[in-house]
Amino acid sequence: MYSLIRKFNLKAVVNTSRIIRSSSTDVPDFDMENPYEREKRECILCKYKIQADYKNVRLLSQFQSPYTGRIYGKHITGLCSKQQELVEKEIVKAQSAGLMGTYSKEPIFLQDPELFDVEKPLRPHRF
Ligand SMILES: [Zn+2]
Repeated sequence: MYSLIRKFNLKAVVNTSRIIRSSSTDVPDFDMENPYEREKRECILCKYKIQADYKNVRLLSQFQSPYTGRIYGKHITGLCSKQQELVEKEIVKAQSAGLMGTYSKEPIFLQDPELFDVEKPLRPHRF
């Protein structure tokens, strides 16, 4: 009889200790990555570690409209502010150096793949 009680008490102690452990830290015992963590968004130039350069006209013309020669905005290109600023600066540099058209895209670059969908901007157009 005595041994039975002792056994029971021991079991009870084990049980309470388990409860205390689980309630004191409200996280699961195993390592798990946060399922609610936001997905890190990286722009295409940062992702592939590409540095925009005025001599790389082929890359720069991918950010230029084939109809007007205008540089696409950040909401269309999806670039981060830093890269967008750099691309715009380098395009202006290339245009003033005569390497790139101002009002049209070079015809040889018209078949190049598109880096972003012009029809689906990340942010709605302001007009
Ligand atoms: Zn970036």
